[in-house]
Amino acid sequence: MSALNLIFIGPPGAGKGTQAEALVDEFDLAYLATGDMMRAKRKEDSDLGRKIAKIIAEGGLVDDEIVCAVVIERIEAEGADGFLLDGFPRTTGQADKLQAALQERGRSLTAVLLIEAPDDVIIKRLAGRRVCEDGHVYHVENNPPQQEGVCDVDGKPLIQRDDDKPETIQKRLDTYHDQTEPLVQRYEDEGLLHRFDGTRSPDEVGDHIRRTVRTLRREDDL
Ligand SMILES: [Zn+2]
Repeated sequence: MSALNLIFIGPPGAGKGTQAEALVDEFDLAYLATGDMMRAKRKEDSDLGRKIAKIIAEGGLVDDEIVCAVVIERIEAEGADGFLLDGFPRTTGQADKLQAALQERGRSLTAVLLIEAPDDVIIKRLAGRRVCEDGHVYHVENNPPQQEGVCDVDGKPLIQRDDDKPETIQKRLDTYHDQTEPLVQRYEDEGLLHRFDGTRSPDEVGDHIRRTVRTLRREDDL
């Protein structure tokens, strides 16, 4: 059985993290979320780790070359039997680097899973989030606390994080449209793209994704 090499793409708030959990469980994939990976890597006592820590300490941006090196290292360490990448590639430049690095290792992408949702749906979803300082999460519409503005668990006040403010979300969405959306067309042209409707319930989206990945695995086994 050959490995499933998958990429998740979609705007922030489309539900990739939620879906990833069930997916890596069922298909036994290494879940490689770039944000977590980079945070872990900079604390590591290695050449690459120190290099990243230094760039971040100086307020710089870690370039594509380095992010790709970290991703590939993790794919080699954990993803021999398949992986699900989340948060990388984000640009066509990163996609080129990933493709070249996989090719060198005799591997290629199996599929790209795109969870789509319009900006207004995402903003409504994320801007409704409220948290207490202990990290209990609510949503003003979908999961409201019993008393408005107060945590059910510990009675602490609920706040809207800066990340969840509409203007911050819109900025992240603009970046997604500018930088990441060109990837959608590219992967579509390469016949790798599968689209999922992120406005549906998480259960529905999850069922659809799992059915698709099962089919990919069967096709792969033939
Ligand atoms: Zn709380």
